[in-house]
Amino acid sequence: MSHPDLISFAGGWEGYRVRNTTTTGTGNEKRIEIELVPKFQEQLLCPCCGKQCTGVHETTKRIVRDLPILDARTYLVVHHRRLFCPQCGPVLESLPWLAKHARVTGRLAASVARLCSWLPIKHVAEFYALSWDQVKEIDKRSLQQRFGSVDLSTVEVIGMDEFALRKGHRYATVIVEPHRKEVLFVAKGRSRESIRPFFQQLGDEGRKRLKAVAMDMNGAFEEEVKANCPQAAIVYDLFHVVAKYSREVLDRVRNAEADRIKDDKKARKIIRTSRWLLLRNSRNVKDGDMVRLQELLQANQNLLTVYLLKEDLKQLWRFRCTEEAELFWEQWYRRAMESKIPQLVLFATRLQVYLQGILNHCLWQLHTGILEGINNKIKVIKRMAYGFRDHDYFFLKIRAAFPGIPG
Ligand SMILES: [Zn+2]
Repeated sequence: MSHPDLISFAGGWEGYRVRNTTTTGTGNEKRIEIELVPKFQEQLLCPCCGKQCTGVHETTKRIVRDLPILDARTYLVVHHRRLFCPQCGPVLESLPWLAKHARVTGRLAASVARLCSWLPIKHVAEFYALSWDQVKEIDKRSLQQRFGSVDLSTVEVIGMDEFALRKGHRYATVIVEPHRKEVLFVAKGRSRESIRPFFQQLGDEGRKRLKAVAMDMNGAFEEEVKANCPQAAIVYDLFHVVAKYSREVLDRVRNAEADRIKDDKKARKIIRTSRWLLLRNSRNVKDGDMVRLQELLQANQNLLTVYLLKEDLKQLWRFRCTEEAELFWEQWYRRAMESKIPQLVLFATRLQVYLQGILNHCLWQLHTGILEGINNKIKVIKRMAYGFRDHDYFFLKIRAAFPGIPG
């Protein structure tokens, strides 16, 4: 096999043959140029209408990148033809390995997109000596092809959550299928209006099919769900309620305590540095830390109470029988009231209003761990600096990170 034949064989540029190859530069600048000309063909068919073309209207030289050959950047000089169709006029010949206006071949684009699921754009751009914008566009196009549309035809349960695009302001909302672990929808904002397009996409049938929706205790989302799917059960997930408890009860009682013992330096230090101990699951606390935790808890009866009630609150999500769960709630509620800790009393009073949404969990065990997973993944995607200038791209990255498992 001569050189051009081998390159042609490996290159697989369908319909074209290698006329010439040249090498220039050394080291990082080394480059191979492969000149490709059309093979002789009996018939030239129009890519639009399929009719026989009468001839070649014109030929232009396109320079495009392909995957590197060994240590050299590889450029193709393609003699691309515009054919003349009696029906459509001049039409660009279609090539299976090169998209219409692309500056890289299909296989280089596929390789770039594959790397982009693991590496920041910057690294992929450096690796292939492409520009940041080029790499982003290639990845975005590939994601649009794979995740541009979503199948909602069998969705019966969903979970929804908001996350901050920037700290403290500008939000986005994700809607997931919790069993399939699939992101179905991502939108800017966290208002009723921002999730409305999802229900429009669902259509009449889809809205009627929806049986349960897991969410945070968020009035706006709940109203929109009720307006569109009055039959769907609202289910509050453990993750959000416990997070709320940590913020509104644990943190505040701890701070109040820190203030109270302002002059007792040692006790103050223990309390200040122990937030993470209080937030942890007790079974994950190491022995040494347990001693400190106990010291801290003995120092403060209120903290002990709110810590224990947090552990008990979690139990509510274990019941499968609504009546039992309700009984358990009543006991929990009474203990909260009897504690007379203002932050705890306030929390329990407010939660009482939302009780139905907690009890609904007995019937609809929606595991919303995926929402927590998404929150973490979003942090990673942010760190990889995909940027927020292009929301569509950012949202596609989130969808791609949770493509769903066939169920
Ligand atoms: Zn035609």
